[in-house]
Amino acid sequence: MSLAVIGGSGAYHLLSDNAFGTEVSCSAVDTPFGKSAPVHEFEVGSGSSESIRFLFLSRHGETDYSITAPFVNYRANIYALKERGASRILSWSGPGIINTKFRPGDFVIPHDILDETKRREGTFFKNRGIGFIRQSDPFCPQIRESIHESLHLLGFPHHEEGVYVCTEGPRLESPAEIRKFRICGADLVGMTLVPEAFLARELEMCYAPICYLTNFAEGVHDRKFQKGELFEGMQTEEEKRDVDESIRKFPGILLGCFMQLKEQERACHCKDALERYKNKGMITDDWRTWMGDV
Ligand SMILES: [Zn+2]
Repeated sequence: MSLAVIGGSGAYHLLSDNAFGTEVSCSAVDTPFGKSAPVHEFEVGSGSSESIRFLFLSRHGETDYSITAPFVNYRANIYALKERGASRILSWSGPGIINTKFRPGDFVIPHDILDETKRREGTFFKNRGIGFIRQSDPFCPQIRESIHESLHLLGFPHHEEGVYVCTEGPRLESPAEIRKFRICGADLVGMTLVPEAFLARELEMCYAPICYLTNFAEGVHDRKFQKGELFEGMQTEEEKRDVDESIRKFPGILLGCFMQLKEQERACHCKDALERYKNKGMITDDWRTWMGDV
């Protein structure tokens, strides 16, 4: 079971629509960091030689949006996927837009990230002498390539690169914050990829995000405040339709990625992130012992 998907906002709609194939099992995992979100196991193409099994975890809830980004137990979720045998994680999320070359509903495969979170547990290696890990490619290049290929084969317009800035939340950003992030080179703004991506790398798992864009960030366009609506007027009805349509495309995009990845050995650096600590005898091959006493 090497493939896993972490679903973002809207994942629960697809779960309730049985959009991912046949569910084989579902259970939360007790970890040293608490209980994970339920880990679903799905099979697509059941019975055929082409069948693929994968794990699925919904970040924000099972039936509705029940937990915001700063309160997700990222360590428990990543630990749980590793425990259940995942070595590759496709993470989907719906950030806002800073760079106006992007539009709501577009797909983007981010290549770099700015961490602007403030209060999250960002490592498995508290009070340990390990974890000094290079981030030349914060996201797995091999999974990113598979996402690109899948979108290309399906003919869905997409952008091959983007810098994602991760804020703390749950509140949205102010106009001045968005201006600051733009100056720093950010194209997209969201709240979920940190520390998820870095935790996956600490456990030598491959991780890459695929983003569908939900709305223009504050101050990017002049939008009137509309009380009582999602994003309070930041998203138009037309944009909402485009976004919903993009969400419905996810199962097909994921399947395209799986078909490619299952043919490929892991050829990236993600799997060797802690190699030098192993070489020095500081840790063994048993990843569960890397964290010491939690
Ligand atoms: Zn990788």
